[in-house]
Amino acid sequence: MGGGDAAADKALQLAAYAKKVTILVRSSSMRAAAVVQEYLKAIPSIEVLYDVEVVEVQGNGSHVTGLKLEDTKTKKTSTLPIRTVYFALGFSPTSQLFKGQLAIDNQGYIELECRTHKTSRAGVFAAGNVTDPFYQKAGYAAGMGIGAALDSIAFLTDLGFSSIIADQWKSRYYVPNMGSFVHPVGNSHELSSLLAKQLPTIVLFHSHHCPVCQEILRKINNRAQQLKDAALFVAVDIEKAPELVKEYKVERVPALFVVEKGSVVHNFGRTNLDQFKEFLSGFAN
Ligand SMILES: Cc1cc2nc3c(=O)[nH]c(=O)nc-3n(C[C@H](O)[C@H](O)[C@H](O)COP(=O)(O)OP(=O)(O)OC[C@H]3O[C@@H](n4cnc5c(N)ncnc54)[C@H](O)[C@@H]3O)c2cc1C
Repeated sequence: MGGGDAAADKALQLAAYAKKVTILVRSSSMRAAAVVQEYLKAIPSIEVLYDVEVVEVQGNGSHVTGLKLEDTKTKKTSTLPIRTVYFALGFSPTSQLFKGQLAIDNQGYIELECRTHKTSRAGVFAAGNVTDPFYQKAGYAAGMGIGAALDSIAFLTDLGFSSIIADQWKSRYYVPNMGSFVHPVGNSHELSSLLAKQLPTIVLFHSHHCPVCQEILRKINNRAQQLKDAALFVAVDIEKAPELVKEYKVERVPALFVVEKGSVVHNFGRTNLDQFKEFLSGFAN
């Protein structure tokens, strides 16, 4: 779904693997670059449908089976049988947080100084997709991260920072604190003994490298304090407990499970954290 460069790019990528790729465009033409549209025409397994709007994604409870389409001109509806749907409706850099703090271009990307990772504010460096309207690839973003780290070291060194000072300042470093009402768990034995208490249990899989996880840890610690006799709150560090990661089939963090009487009754991941927050505020009320 989509009519711009993102949709064209994804269709070209998918055509290498899929028998058939259909691009659904709401208007009568694509916005993708003309040269890219020529590439699309050259690939027989790619079809472009114009003037169609997706009104419903149909499924059988296990996977997608089709799309209900509406012709934007005639308003007639039809069904397109498909197995997989990709939304390629463009990319918006998540830079709102820095609005008014750092220079941001008119597309929302954080501006960098020449070929460095310096932003408009001294001592603040940026890297990755939020700075990059062109490449948007994982390896490129990771490389930019290295550049930003090198720029940060140079900045600190200029200020007189060294490994000796780093050692002296260790006690001031930010160490994620999960709070005293959440039980840290490092292996399946520890988790089993907590679950044996037969209280409804919120299990959070987290990593110290994940800022969203730290935010959730703080939130669940507050709730754990309020509910200390009614529910257990458990934090599993994925680096310490790979066997639990496997058992709970955790692919990304944060991942949250609600376990009651030995069974998982809810499963929340990165994509439905809002539902988790809603669940948490009503939990055990
Ligand atoms: C469907 C899809 C397929 C892709 N396939 C490939 C591929 O095959 N090969 C490839 O090289 N690249 C691929 N990419 C692109 C690749 O994923 C990105 O280029 C790469 O992840 C960019 O890394 P990043 O660190 O800049 O941004 P991200 O990976 O987007 O990381 C940004 C992080 O910041 C967090 N964040 C945002 N706002 C806040 C906030 N306010 N507070 C705290 N945290 C915040 C986000 O949750 C996220 O974890 C794909 C992308 C998509 C969407």
